[in-house]
Amino acid sequence: MPQVLVVNAGSSSLKFAVLDPATGQRAAEGIVERIGEPDATIRFAAGDGPVQRSTAEISDHIVAFAAARQLLADSVAELPEVVGHRVVHGGDRLTRPTVIDDQVVEQIVDCIPLAPLHNPAALSGIAAALQQFPDAVHVAVFDTAFHATIPASAREYAIDRTVAEAHHIRRYGFHGTSHDYVARRAAEFLNRDPAEANLITLHLGNGASACAVRGGRSVETSMGVTPLEGLVMGTRSGDIDPSVPVMLVRAGWDADAVDDLLNRNGGLKGLCGANDMREIRSRADSGDAAARLARDVMVHRLRKYLGAYAFVLGRVDAVVFTAGIGEHNDWVRANVCRDLAGFGIEIDESANTAPGDEPRVISAPGAPVAVLVIPTDEESAIAAAAQDLVG
Ligand code: ADP
Repeated sequence: MPQVLVVNAGSSSLKFAVLDPATGQRAAEGIVERIGEPDATIRFAAGDGPVQRSTAEISDHIVAFAAARQLLADSVAELPEVVGHRVVHGGDRLTRPTVIDDQVVEQIVDCIPLAPLHNPAALSGIAAALQQFPDAVHVAVFDTAFHATIPASAREYAIDRTVAEAHHIRRYGFHGTSHDYVARRAAEFLNRDPAEANLITLHLGNGASACAVRGGRSVETSMGVTPLEGLVMGTRSGDIDPSVPVMLVRAGWDADAVDDLLNRNGGLKGLCGANDMREIRSRADSGDAAARLARDVMVHRLRKYLGAYAFVLGRVDAVVFTAGIGEHNDWVRANVCRDLAGFGIEIDESANTAPGDEPRVISAPGAPVAVLVIPTDEESAIAAAAQDLVG
C-alpha cells in the first residue's frame, strides 16, 4: 500500500508522520516545536532508527515543513503522494474527509471564529505542505466530522434560534477521529458487527471527551461549540454554570481573562495546580488534599456522563477507554467503573492493573458490559481516511 503523509499543525508545532494507511506502521515521524522562536527543536526518527534531535531557527510553518520534507526525502524510499491534514473544526459544511482546494480552504477559514487557535494553525500547515508537496493530493480530515450524525435534540442549545444560527452556535463535538477509530477497533475486538454495537468511548488525554456511539455513528458527545464543554480536562474546566462568565464580566473581568480561567488555567490545573495525571496521582497517593479533590472531581464528572450516555443509548455493549489517561491510568478506570455492577459494569482488578500497550478487555469475566482499553491512533485513522478518499 502506498504511504501517506499525515500532518498535524499546531500554532507553534508541526507533527508529521509517513505511514502505511492499512497497518498504521510508521516509516518515519517527527515533530518541530517552538516554531517562531530562535531555538526551535526538531525530533525525527525513521522506522525503528534512533531519534535525531536538532535545534534551529525556524521562523514559520513554511520553514518547518521544508525541514520536514528534507528529513523525509533523506530517509524514505518514496515521498508520499497523499497528504492527510488534521483540521480541528469543519463547521456545518465540512463533515467528511475532503480533498483540499481553494474553496475548502475558504470554508476552513470561515470556521476560524469557532476554533480561533486551531484552524489558523491547520491552515498554516496546509499552506506549507502545498508548497513542499505540490503534486500530492491533500486531504483534510476534521475532528468534528464524526459527530455530524448527532441528532438535533442533542446538537442544539436551548437559546434563541436566531442568535444561535447567526453565530453558528450549536454542539459540534471534537476528537471525532479518535472516537471513530477506537469504536471501530472495539467492535472488531469484540467480534461484533459495528452496525449492531452500542458503545461509550472515553477519550481521556489532556483534552477529554465522551461519546455515545450507536451502530458506528456518534449520537452524543460531551464537547460543544468549542472543545471546552463537558469533562474535566488538564487545563479546561469542562461544564460550568453558564452564568459564571457573566458574573465575572460584571465584576470587571475581560473576555481574555475569562478565557484563560476556563481554557488554560481550569480543569485539573485549576483545582490543584498540576495538569499531568501522573503528578496528580503521586501527590494524591501521598495525601495531598488538592490533588485528591482534582482527581475526584474529574472522576465524578466522568461517571455522570457514563450514566447519561447509558440512557442515551438504552443498551451498552462496551465502555472504551483511550488516550493518555484512558490507556495508562488504572486508578481512573477503576474509579469510573466502581460500584456499577448493578448496571452490568464490573472491572477485573488484575486485568485493569496489568501493563500493556495492546487493545485489551479489563471487565470481569461474564460481566454484561465489556470494558476495554483501546489505544488510539489518530494518525493512522487520518491516513486511512485520506487514502480511502483518494482510492
Ligand atoms: P494529548 O491530549 O496532549 O495528546 P495525552 O493523550 O498524551 O495528551 O494525555 C496526557 C495525559 O495522559 C496526562 O495527564 C498524562 O499524565 C497521561 N499519560 C500519558 N502517558 C502516560 C503514561 N505512559 N502513564 C501514565 N499516564 C500517562
